[in-house]
Amino acid sequence: MTDILVNSEKLAKQYKIGEVVVNALGGIDFKIETGAFTAFVGPSGSGKSTLLNIIGCLDKPTTGKILVLETDVSGLNRRKAAAFRGENIGFIFQDFNLIPVLSAAENIEYPLIMVQKWPAGRRRRRVSELLEAVDLSAQADNRPDQLSGGQKQRVAVARALAAGPRMVLADEPTANLDSETAGRIISLMRSIRDSFGTTFIFSTHDKRIVDKAEQVFFMEDGLLRQEGAA
Ligand code: ADP
Ligand code: MG
Repeated sequence: MTDILVNSEKLAKQYKIGEVVVNALGGIDFKIETGAFTAFVGPSGSGKSTLLNIIGCLDKPTTGKILVLETDVSGLNRRKAAAFRGENIGFIFQDFNLIPVLSAAENIEYPLIMVQKWPAGRRRRRVSELLEAVDLSAQADNRPDQLSGGQKQRVAVARALAAGPRMVLADEPTANLDSETAGRIISLMRSIRDSFGTTFIFSTHDKRIVDKAEQVFFMEDGLLRQEGAA
């Protein structure tokens, strides 16, 4: 496979807090192949979330370059970055980030209303398809506080996939799940990748994600330690 989805050159990010400068990313080069289950692994503070936020156009590098789908995303203004995200990228977070007052179905539908502006009939069909894919059809009307942790994360997976993105960025998606539930969520994401070719990019400590990943990057102090296929 030679098709490259993300290409980073000397990517660096500094945060300044008063006089103190933190080198969150120290100038890193990497390529992520289209369709690869990809993991960035490293201790807390090593720069994983910073990196995912830059890939996801939620933040910009201080220096260096990053191409996502051959677009230089560090050069996009806010509006164009938001459009690029809406079209190409889904997000999954450690603490699920569901909207508490909305049902499972409504949480999944939300980006289709707010970002995609799909008509109602098309949205309804898509939502029931996704509920079925994550095995939550029976919980469609439950609010997040009526769902288990694993069910919440399945809603979040469905929401990330709603608009059919090319890639999903998942920041420690199994950190708040028990081991068995985490295993099921990982298998679900792998089967989605296998069916639809969606590229999954993880930040994680979870050995089970690393075991299933085809590309693994080890981070330490904002640098890549080594690289290799699992
Ligand atoms: P990880 O996700 O691997 O735990 P982060 O990317 O969150 O690492 O953080 C990398 C480094 O950058 C840490 O030293 C962290 O304290 C710092 N950092 C992250 N975000 C900010 C921010 N918004 N302002 C200042 N420093 C930050
Ligand atoms: Mg983090």
